[in-house]
Amino acid sequence: MRHDMFPLSPSLWAATAVPPPPTSAIDASRRADVLVIGGGYAGLSTALHLAQRGIDVVLLEAREIGFGGSGRNGGQVIPGLKHDPDDLLRMYGQERGANLIRFAGSTADLVFDLIDSHGMDVPRVRQGWIQGAHTPQALRVAQQRAEQWRRHGVAARTLDKAQAAALLGTERYLGGWLDPRAGSIQPLSYVRGLARAAIDAGATVYTDTPVDRLQRSGTDWVATTTAGATVTAARVVMCTNAYGADLWPGLQPSIIDANTFQVATQPLPESIRASILPQGQVCSDTRNLLLYFRLDHQGRLLMGGRGPFREPRGQDDWAHLERVMVKMYPQVAGVPYEYRWCGRVAITRDYLPHLHEPAPGLLIDIGCQGRGVGLQTAMGKAMAAYVATGDHAELPVPVSPIKGFPLYALRRLYVNAVVTWYRMRDGGM
Ligand SMILES: Cc1cc2nc3c(=O)[nH]c(=O)nc-3n(C[C@H](O)[C@H](O)[C@H](O)COP(=O)(O)OP(=O)(O)OC[C@H]3O[C@@H](n4cnc5c(N)ncnc54)[C@H](O)[C@@H]3O)c2cc1C
Repeated sequence: MRHDMFPLSPSLWAATAVPPPPTSAIDASRRADVLVIGGGYAGLSTALHLAQRGIDVVLLEAREIGFGGSGRNGGQVIPGLKHDPDDLLRMYGQERGANLIRFAGSTADLVFDLIDSHGMDVPRVRQGWIQGAHTPQALRVAQQRAEQWRRHGVAARTLDKAQAAALLGTERYLGGWLDPRAGSIQPLSYVRGLARAAIDAGATVYTDTPVDRLQRSGTDWVATTTAGATVTAARVVMCTNAYGADLWPGLQPSIIDANTFQVATQPLPESIRASILPQGQVCSDTRNLLLYFRLDHQGRLLMGGRGPFREPRGQDDWAHLERVMVKMYPQVAGVPYEYRWCGRVAITRDYLPHLHEPAPGLLIDIGCQGRGVGLQTAMGKAMAAYVATGDHAELPVPVSPIKGFPLYALRRLYVNAVVTWYRMRDGGM
């Protein structure tokens, strides 16, 4: 794991989350049936669902619960994948494609069910997600997307310009569609709630415990931590995503670990708040370099989007988002910004989550492209079922070989060039 990662603490979520359950670093070597590496949604959901099956599971987290994307994201709980249902049927065939559509369509349900069934203290709203269309062509695609989901039983609505403006409180979009399955949460409170639920179910969770090495020993795996203690287990599930792909040889070049940035205003006065997303939806748009925005549970306006590939150097790295926020919502001009933070997503070649099994007993889950709150929670549940039963049919996507991006060493140049190109196509943002 890299040591220069932007800390979690300046984020809005760190300032407003429920406390984490008490955990500590590992202090002695031990065994477990299953070792999970990474304390985000994927790892903790895997641990929770394994423990609920009575399996002895140990989870090792390098820093703190939710240190990765799970404690930093926009808190938009959006079902589905980047690919539309018709694409999934084309890519995977009727049976597997239909299973994947069902799986992806139910990820938000799982998040809200887990919050309710475990009594998690997580601020949440479930009023749907709006995808705002920024060009006539994007509007056509959004309308087709809604139509495809309607064919799968979802009460998806298409929105014309006036309807979108009424729901969003900005005239910037030509229309869009609304997915009623979606909603918003406080993401760090949710991942801490998952940790508490996993521990209550019998999982052992260690924090401040980076795994430095993962090695085969006979039919077992041995994970050696920075402090020297080891965990030996027959099965390992690696859920380090964009924050620790370097743990397994060849995995890092299979993702682009791009940074995405967010700002949040101070809580808005009621007069302004009522004019923005008045019905409580969350929104992201159809740009290649998408913008995502929502209100939080205390009435702050959050705006997220692209940022430099490197770690941030100062407030200027968020200035473009602050400009866009005021263009979109002129009524917030002059309201101070209270929080600025960022985090890394793991972009895969096909924009899908990847599962790899590079050696017997080792399962790797990687890839998150903006739907990870629901998706990685659901991946964790599916991986637990697979580890418990050995049945590959439990997994929503096929296990695939690890494949690197071509010209990976040039990725910074490549990402910067792609960002410049997309900015031009997106109209300057
Ligand atoms: C800024 C931002 C905004 C986003 N917005 C949204 C959104 O609104 N909606 C949405 O659905 N998705 C969003 N996402 C994506 C979503 O947050 C991720 O897909 C999801 O959190 C990934 O969960 P995960 O458990 O797979 O990985 P992570 O949460 O990244 O967890 C990986 C964990 O592994 C740990 N780790 C790494 N290496 C080691 C090691 N060697 N030993 C032990 N532990 C290790 C890390 O410390 C980390 O805690 C966003 C992401 C970011 C960064």
